[in-house]
Formats: sequence, structure tokens, C-alpha cells
Amino acid sequence: MAMNVQPVAALSDEVNELRLRTAQVINDDVLPLEPTLWNSEDEAAKAAAKEARLDIQSKVKKLGLWAPHLPEEFGGMGLSFMQHAYMNEVLSYSPGAAALFGVVAPNSGNQKILVKYGTPEQHEQWLKPLTEGSMQSGFSMTEPMNPGSDPRALTTRAVLDGDEWVINGHKWFTSNGFGADFFIVMCRTADPDDPAGGGKMTQIIVPTDTPGVNIVRGVPVWGKRSNHCEIVYDNVRVPKENQLGRTGTGHQAAQDRLGAGRVYHCMNSVGAMWRAFDLMVERLMTREVHGGEKLEDKQFMQGFVAESYIDIQSARLMTINCAEKMETGGDPRTDISAIKIAVPAAYHRVVDRAIQVWGAAGVSGDLPLAGMYQGARTLRLADGPDEVHKILISKLVLRRYHSGESWDFGN
Ligand SMILES: Cc1cc2nc3c(=O)[nH]c(=O)nc-3n(C[C@H](O)[C@H](O)[C@H](O)COP(=O)(O)OP(=O)(O)OC[C@H]3O[C@@H](n4cnc5c(N)ncnc54)[C@H](O)[C@@H]3O)c2cc1C
Repeated sequence: MAMNVQPVAALSDEVNELRLRTAQVINDDVLPLEPTLWNSEDEAAKAAAKEARLDIQSKVKKLGLWAPHLPEEFGGMGLSFMQHAYMNEVLSYSPGAAALFGVVAPNSGNQKILVKYGTPEQHEQWLKPLTEGSMQSGFSMTEPMNPGSDPRALTTRAVLDGDEWVINGHKWFTSNGFGADFFIVMCRTADPDDPAGGGKMTQIIVPTDTPGVNIVRGVPVWGKRSNHCEIVYDNVRVPKENQLGRTGTGHQAAQDRLGAGRVYHCMNSVGAMWRAFDLMVERLMTREVHGGEKLEDKQFMQGFVAESYIDIQSARLMTINCAEKMETGGDPRTDISAIKIAVPAAYHRVVDRAIQVWGAAGVSGDLPLAGMYQGARTLRLADGPDEVHKILISKLVLRRYHSGESWDFGN
């Protein structure tokens, strides 16, 4: 089933045009090839898949739809925040399709950090090849021995020795670990005046072939081999110029990366839910059960349709509301945390129902639903686990009431 994207009266001409153009690529070029695009069964399948992906990427570039997350001067589309959010929704209808439009995590987050914090030299050396696709990168923050949900607890240290940072620490879940040319590593930069050895965080670019970067293993995820790597940094020396931004700005840079990123991730989830919904309804209309009745005639199944519709609409409208606040300069913190909790949970429920409707086929590799289910579940603990965001929402709300004001839900 093709994605049904129509012009919307409330949206600008630019956004409508962007949604329609993106949907056309998804429908004409991506969906028909979906079963083969990511096939890695054997070398021949891998090579064919890569060629097919390159073909689509070159078409996407010709159509001016490449790198929606980057400014034009850095090879991207130069979209506004809202335009980017709406485009993400459409391109996420097919799992993994974002990569065909030049958006691949963690490269995309790293590109944004490099745009904002990088020097002109760093742009030339790292950002340009990353955008052109001649380099790959990883983001190395989470540590096995410390809670990733509290970045202040990270212990990987970087100490300045002459003109070099010397890095020691232990990370894991560094995405793209095996394929990356460089990692952006979140380090506690030592403060010599702090007797407790404290210090703030700084993000430092580490080429992966630097002596002392020891990739221990790819940590299996959902029972499968993965590219999310455990890495020991053992006296790794990189030039001082490899630090991103001023010393001590690493935490802020991580927040910059995650804040806007959460809105985009939620729009991705909405696009994926849309697909799961289409798949579910398609099956309800065709599958006959006891006595030749269609699944769509069963009330249990009709409940699935209604509940999923409500889940998608509420998740989508919350996300768009939050994105509008971000674009118009309002304080989006409460809403970012709210969508970070609500949208992955809705996504999880919608995919769960679609799997139920499809029965065994739902968990097979023939449909994208099983992968979506794992993705939805993972989102509830990544990007800040739900519980941490609940704490933040209640803190922000209660602070307002304690200051004598109540909440304005219209704002
Ligand atoms: C597929 C995948 C890809 C990833 N990619 C990357 C990557 O590219 N780079 C990277 O650095 N990391 C990456 N991560 C790691 C991810 O960011 C962390 O797993 C996440 O930040 C949570 O940290 P943690 O696993 O250490 O959990 P912890 O911090 O140990 O938290 C575990 C649980 O404790 C609970 N909890 C935590 N704090 C509180 C609290 N204050 N109150 C109540 N309950 C609480 C929550 O339920 C939470 O889920 C990835 C993870 C996955 C699964």
C-alpha cells in the first residue's frame, strides 16, 4: 500500500510541496524495493542492495531532497525546523529510508554538533567528508559502569598534556563503532583546581585509528550482532584542536543534540506508526477467519483501528505542537519531555496491534513490523529514559505552581 499524502490547507505551500515530493520518492522508488534494499543475506545480496541504495540516493540528490537536517552552506536543504519535522514524518514511512535522504544516526547528530560547535578547520576535515559520505562517525557517551541517564556521572577523563588531550575511559553502545572513521567522545575534562578531580564535560573528536582506541566488541542488541560497540580508551592522544567548542561545553552540546533531535525522532515514530496502521488495516480488510468473515467485521479488531487512530493523532498533534513552540521561541522543555514519553509509548502500542492482526507474519522478516517493535521499545530507554523525563515534567510544572502561577495549557 502506498503512503497517502495529500495537500493540507493549514500548511504552507512549501511544506505541502515538500511532503508530496518526499512521499513520491517513498512510493515510487523505496517501497517497491523495500524487501531487497537492506538485504545482507550474502555478498551478492549485499552488493545489489548497496547499488539500489546508491541509485535512490543519487535521485534524491537530483531532486534536492538530500540532507534535510543541514544548512545549505554545509550541503543540506536548509529547511526550517517545522519543514524538517514534516519531512521526517514522510520519509520514516519506510524503516531505514532516512539513510536514502542522507540522514543516518549517529552521523546526523554529529553533523549538527559539528555545524554548531566546529571550527572552519573541523568543518573542512570532518563535517564535509561526513556529509559527502566519504567518512562515517560514532557518538561515544554511554558507559557500562555509570548511568547513561545521568551524563554528569560519566567518568571518562581527558587531561591536557601540552598540546594534546589524553583520554582514558570505558564506553559502550557507541553506534557505528566498527564502521566509523572518527568518534565524538564525551569526556570529563580535568579541572586542576578541583581537588576532587571534577571538571565539566567536553566533546572531543577521536579518529578511530588513534593508538589506544580499543574496540572490545559489538554489543549484541535484541539477540543480534550489532555495530553498537564497547570501547576502551587507553591513553588516547589527540591534538588539542580536536575539542569541539570551548572546554566544558560538552553537556550543553549533548543537550543541543538531543533537544531538537527528540522532536525529529518523534516525527519519525509518527511516520512509522502511519505505516504500521496502513499495514494493519490492509490485513483486516483481506484476511478471512471463521466462517468467511473478514477480520474487519470483528469488534475486537475494530477496537484496534480506533485505538490506533487515537494513538497516532494524539502523538502527532503533541509533536507538532511542541515543534511549533520550538520554532516560535517558546519554552519547549516540558513538551519535549512529554512527547519523548508519549510518542514512543503510542508507537509501541500501534505496532503491537498491527503485529497481533498479522499473526505469525507480524513477527516474521517479511514485514517491517518486528523491527519497528524493537525500535519502539528501545526508544523508551534511549534519549533519556521515560522516568527521567517524568521527573523533569513534574519539576517544571511544580516550580511554576510554587512561584504562584498555574499552568497555561494554551501556551
Ligand atoms: C540501540 C541503542 C543505541 C544507542 N546508541 C548510543 C550511541 O550512539 N552513543 C551512546 O553514547 N549511547 C548510545 N546508547 C545508550 C543510551 O543512550 C543509554 O542506554 C541511555 O542513555 C540509558 O542509559 P543506561 O543504559 O546507562 O541506563 P541507566 O542510566 O542505568 O538507567 C536504567 C534505568 O533506570 C531508570 N532510571 C534512571 N534514572 C532514574 C531516575 N532518576 N529515577 C527513576 N528511574 C531512573 C530508568 O528506568 C532507566 O531506563 C544506545 C542504546 C541503545 C539501546
